[in-house]
Amino acid sequence: MEKIIAQDDLIINDKKCNDFVHNESNDDLKKSFIDKLDVESVNLCQIRELNLFCMGCCGHDYGSRDKLERAIDNNTQTYNEAKDKKLWGQRSPNYVHTSGVCYNVIRKGNEVFCPLHPLRNKGIDLRDKDCDINYMCLTYKTYLKWDLGKRKRFIIFLSLKSRDWYEYSMGMDSDSILNEFENLEQKNNFQEK
Ligand code: SF4
Repeated sequence: MEKIIAQDDLIINDKKCNDFVHNESNDDLKKSFIDKLDVESVNLCQIRELNLFCMGCCGHDYGSRDKLERAIDNNTQTYNEAKDKKLWGQRSPNYVHTSGVCYNVIRKGNEVFCPLHPLRNKGIDLRDKDCDINYMCLTYKTYLKWDLGKRKRFIIFLSLKSRDWYEYSMGMDSDSILNEFENLEQKNNFQEK
């Protein structure tokens, strides 16, 4: 799939990010992002077009990045070797590893995901019964209550900083990305809708 934002276009400076999201003069640039993305149907958990992949709610009490990475890479290796993926999904002695992450999260480069989720498994749900399949983080729940304009600003805001799977997951799970965005909105006197 075409990547929406070239590396050179990434704006990582907070002031520039602020200007970009809220300055009317950037409308053409914003439009070019948004035109390519169906904001209404964006799945915040996995925004492939923006290279943003989250596993924030697939565990709790997370350890260091290294610990998480080792646990996920171990999951990935055993998943790739497993002949019966459903059985593989039921192998966990506990809900999560000692690192805090679920036994069923795997990774391909920066892409972290649950291979048992129907969206990743040809519509078939192989998730184990201890998975809270209806859970939604505060960021996602809040996002769904916003009007389209605010959702668009949030997606643009997300597109402006490069976050790898760890940074995006921890930022979504801890609400820090949401809070950062809401602060920007307030600074720019955007109305809560
Ligand atoms: S923390 Fe939120 S965005 Fe991340 S996977 Fe869970 S529901 Fe999706």
